[in-house]
Amino acid sequence: MKRLLLIPDGMADWKNPKTGKTPLEEADTPNMDFLAKEGACGIARTIPDGYEPGSDVANLTILGIDVRKYYTGRGPIEALAKGIKTKIAFRCNLVYVENGVMVDYSGNRIDDREAEIAVNALNSALKEKMKDFKLYRGRSYRHILAIDRDIDRDIGGDVGGNNLTETNKTNLTETKTFAPHDIIGKRIENYLPKGKLASELREFIRISEKVLPEVTDKANMAWPWSGGKMPNFPSFSKLRGVRGTMISEVDLLQGIGRGLKMNVVEVEGVTGYINTNYKGLAKAALRAFKEDSFVVLHLEGIDEVSHEGNYELKVEAIELYDEKIVGYIIDRLDLSEIAIMLLPDHPTPVEKRTHVSEPVPFLVYGGKRDDVRMFTEKSCRKGMFGEISGLKLIDILFSS
Ligand SMILES: [Zn+2]
Repeated sequence: MKRLLLIPDGMADWKNPKTGKTPLEEADTPNMDFLAKEGACGIARTIPDGYEPGSDVANLTILGIDVRKYYTGRGPIEALAKGIKTKIAFRCNLVYVENGVMVDYSGNRIDDREAEIAVNALNSALKEKMKDFKLYRGRSYRHILAIDRDIDRDIGGDVGGNNLTETNKTNLTETKTFAPHDIIGKRIENYLPKGKLASELREFIRISEKVLPEVTDKANMAWPWSGGKMPNFPSFSKLRGVRGTMISEVDLLQGIGRGLKMNVVEVEGVTGYINTNYKGLAKAALRAFKEDSFVVLHLEGIDEVSHEGNYELKVEAIELYDEKIVGYIIDRLDLSEIAIMLLPDHPTPVEKRTHVSEPVPFLVYGGKRDDVRMFTEKSCRKGMFGEISGLKLIDILFSS
């Protein structure tokens, strides 16, 4: 049996006040509706209580990885995504602080070129003073602080709202940091790193305060947060007996694939937007079945237009997805020998322009059947699976 997991990022949504419909209800989606009609549906909680609705947490949960056990923070996942070899990683923003108050978490949207100069200057200073600290450059203000040091126990997480359950707050977290976007307008002295590594992290911040104003006006401090040890995920093949192939346009999902020791396939000409290379992505999924019996195909564009807050464009993006990904693939597969699961990782309501933690609709084709005739947020609520924990999804797909 072949198994295909299709993840249209951020597709679920709320009702639009003008049309009275969600984008998924508004869109013409004959292929997803066919799979829902011939298969079985439900809704799934992909964000465990106490976690932020990030794509990292949601997709790990869908793949059956319990984030309460394995998730060590956003920094480590982003480091994994960038292929950074290190023992500990923090997200690190270039920020702007005025009179001791956090004013801008984005370093006034510093551009890539100026950010490169800033990061290089900071790295030169670190080389002299803190040898195992190194910044890896991302886009604009978003960077990774890698600390190549053995540490006996887990660290990581943020106080102030992010990605923490009581369990790892008390048992695992020994370094407390704060997300800069959560402390805008507040005095930073109360939110400097605490606990293990605190003195080194504070020293790092002090060095950044000296170095950055010499090379840029946009940012005057580097701010580490959501750090932890690099995660030690089980391999997917150990969990399910098959290696699995991950196909995605974004490095976050590719990083998760690498972390689970899956086969990671990159496709040329993809944009992560609605003008992406649909055919290339769909063909890559079909091709992957020659070597692998389990394939994940994640698409980013629908989430992007949701963040833009564009309802009409989201409807269009969903229709393109239905035709050029779902339709293209099911027209070319022998449907008698495949199970297909399709679900968004989390809702991204256009009205809110950001992710929310509510349950997402899912469909499974190739096993049981229920009375659901269309793939929408509302219709899937009436499906035979009801509301389930996201961690059960992979079991359902692998028992179909
Ligand atoms: Zn997502």
